[in-house]
Amino acid sequence: MRTFAGMLDLVAIRECLSCGGEVDAEPLCGDCAYALSARLTPLHTRNTLMRHGFAIGAYSGPIGALVRRAKFSLDTRAVELLAEAMRRALGEGLGFTPDRIVPIPTTPWRLAQRGFHLPERLADEVAAHTGAPIDTVLRRRWGKAQAARTFAERLAAGGDLFVPRRATSGHVLVVDDVLTSGATLHGAAAELLAAGATSVSCLVLAAAGPLRRVPVGIS
Ligand SMILES: [Zn+2]
Repeated sequence: MRTFAGMLDLVAIRECLSCGGEVDAEPLCGDCAYALSARLTPLHTRNTLMRHGFAIGAYSGPIGALVRRAKFSLDTRAVELLAEAMRRALGEGLGFTPDRIVPIPTTPWRLAQRGFHLPERLADEVAAHTGAPIDTVLRRRWGKAQAARTFAERLAAGGDLFVPRRATSGHVLVVDDVLTSGATLHGAAAELLAAGATSVSCLVLAAAGPLRRVPVGIS
């Protein structure tokens, strides 16, 4: 005999977690599942502090939609699908082995509010794949949330977002969910280099704009 909840489940129209389109049993429709199986795309890192930069998809596409769902609807299914996309993209290999993995930190307040931090979840996947340890060397300064800043404010605050807790070393791979202006990653790279890193690269899920032309940071 089916339970009442089971019957509800049968008649419910399922929606793709990313685009909201109708699906049968899978969490994603075919188009969104395809977008989440993308490879790593190199980002434009000339004239920036980054040695290498990679993104998996565009913020305007299904990956971006799923990132918004994870962060703003606190949907842990979306978090796990994004972690899976990261794992699959890394299967191709980065082309280098970093010495440390640094997730872009959030504030303790935001972490308590959401219960998870997407860059940390992604960094776990990168650490598992590369064998490099997670290094929580960066601490976020208290202040206005990035999303609430204007573009000019972000540029001005780029070097003022993070404080290193201690010294670091080697080739550091910074992991974040979204790359928009590049100010966050630029600020992180500047602090990591000042704290002793020999070079910094970055890996993000979703980047705004045409991937190969997005400069990772300002210089
Ligand atoms: Zn979809």
